[in-house]
Amino acid sequence: MRVLIADDDPVARVKLRSLLKKWSYRPVLAENGDDAWRILSAEDPPLICILDWMMPGLDGIDLCKRVRALKREPYTYLILVTGKGRPEDIVLGMGAGADDYVTKPYDHHELEVRVRAGRRVVDLQLELIQTRDRLQYEATHDHLTGHLNRAETLQQLNRELARARREETEVGVAMIDVDFFKRVNDTHGHAAGDEVLREVARRLQSVVRSYDVLGRIGGEEFVAVLPTCTVEDILHVGDRLRSAVASSPIVVSEDLVLPVTVSVGLAASTKGVDVSGDKLLMVADAALYRAKRDGRDRVVLAKNASTSGTFAAVDAPIQGPGSKTG
Ligand code: GH3
Ligand code: MG
Ligand code: MG
Repeated sequence: MRVLIADDDPVARVKLRSLLKKWSYRPVLAENGDDAWRILSAEDPPLICILDWMMPGLDGIDLCKRVRALKREPYTYLILVTGKGRPEDIVLGMGAGADDYVTKPYDHHELEVRVRAGRRVVDLQLELIQTRDRLQYEATHDHLTGHLNRAETLQQLNRELARARREETEVGVAMIDVDFFKRVNDTHGHAAGDEVLREVARRLQSVVRSYDVLGRIGGEEFVAVLPTCTVEDILHVGDRLRSAVASSPIVVSEDLVLPVTVSVGLAASTKGVDVSGDKLLMVADAALYRAKRDGRDRVVLAKNASTSGTFAAVDAPIQGPGSKTG
């Protein structure tokens, strides 16, 4: 682990450097407070710092205050070193944000255990951050495909709708459902079904833009959230999604190659018209239902009665395999 040494006294610096090396840390040296601040305010700074109080320019107290003001994660553990040892100095140092305090001349073993205590704090926090990030990922992602789960997809949709309201743009949604998926499971087993879902997710992802959101909202149902997608754009996206899956059969294993298709229901919000994510999905779902009823492997756009600001019943299937728009 890297440890920053900030001391304007070259003899003290060199001594501390060899001690830290002996204790298996990687010392990083700063010759004064400004130098130390450059290192501490840059990307990926050392997480343990031994700061001399008295330095020209920024002193140890200034550094403590500045580091704490950054409120950065992960935590930076600060040890102040100084000749001042009166209780009021200690109060001032710790009050500025130091975690620990060592008075000169310090005993080597004492400093060693104090640095070790700092390392324990830093290590524990790094572990906590990792666990928190993992839990957060698991709470928002689908285990099978790695895509966003239902709750997170809805949240992203509502976020995009709020943004669209502010910026007066549209949001499109595509609801995608694998056709006759139950047969895949029934005929080839659940593991084959899982592999088909993973590949369908990959293919869908490959045809959306980087700032579109693709989530798995149910067993074999996906939703693509398409910001700034007008009704005209969305038809193209819908057919790209459909044909990405249908264009070539899915290779599940060496001896199992399955043709798979999806049906797609589309809906889009209207500029300047308030619509909830739930409502938009309901409309897209109705369009999807129509695509299923009309024979599957096709795209249906919900009719958007933009003049009245409400969504009318599903209208006009627009594309099936090989069929023309209309
Ligand atoms: P349709 O064309 O009308 O959509 O027919 P379908 O068979 O695709 O629809 P249905 O809703 O009847 O079946 C969906 C199937 O998806 C049933 C369920 O067992 C399966 N399923 C749901 N989640 C998973 C999963 O995580 N893995 C696998 N392998 N199958 C799943
Ligand atoms: Mg299905
Ligand atoms: Mg379904």
